[in-house]
Amino acid sequence: MEPVTAELIERIDACIEALFAPSDPVLARNIADAQAAGLPSFQVSPNQGRLLYLLAKLIGARRVLEIGTLGGYSATWLARALPADGLLVTLELNPRHAEVARRSLERAAITPRLDLRVGPAADSLRDLIRSAVPPFDLVFLDADKSGYVEYLGLVLELVRPGALILADNVIRHGLVIDPSPGDPNDAGAKAYNEAIASDPRLESLILPIVRARVDGLATSMVR
Ligand code: SAH
Ligand code: MG
Repeated sequence: MEPVTAELIERIDACIEALFAPSDPVLARNIADAQAAGLPSFQVSPNQGRLLYLLAKLIGARRVLEIGTLGGYSATWLARALPADGLLVTLELNPRHAEVARRSLERAAITPRLDLRVGPAADSLRDLIRSAVPPFDLVFLDADKSGYVEYLGLVLELVRPGALILADNVIRHGLVIDPSPGDPNDAGAKAYNEAIASDPRLESLILPIVRARVDGLATSMVR
């Protein structure tokens, strides 16, 4: 048996991608435009995009909330899982990122309604709570990890029973195992994992996301 190496894992990931998440013109253009605009390439992998898409379909999601839009790559995958009368709300702090994402999602002619809100996610979440929007079926957290615990508290006011709350990058190459991580994002992810593990309103597990580095997708179902 081959030893588990980063190189082997990359080859396996590429093999799965070729089978289940091959690129297409819309996804390729999304990545190219984000790169051309100088955005960091923090987007989910194609396989993880496919996972988000499948999970959204699995629960029959109609209303999805994303926190951390970047160039709209994960938003494209999520939007594709929604019915034509569905809604994707996506929150982004950086106006430049939001601008690139808006252009990209408009060009992709995404059919569900798109509501892209620019500003600190916590403010946008409070606005959504204040305006008493109908509950969301699925939430994808992928902004600053230091804010995850705060976002969780707010998100729990915006979801229906049975909703799925997903949070990206919660393992951080294993740095969350440290008893007290120095980096605020590592500490934030660690605190988030502990919060979902003990919150009586949730049933959770972390799905490992193994690529060149090890990470994880926190997966919680609202009781
Ligand atoms: N979900 C995207 C990647 C998001 S990267 C994808 O997979 O395609 C994280 C994004 O969160 C960045 O664009 C960053 O600007 C944004 N962000 C950081 N802090 C934020 C905050 N406080 N509120 C909202 N967005 C924030
Ligand atoms: Mg991420």
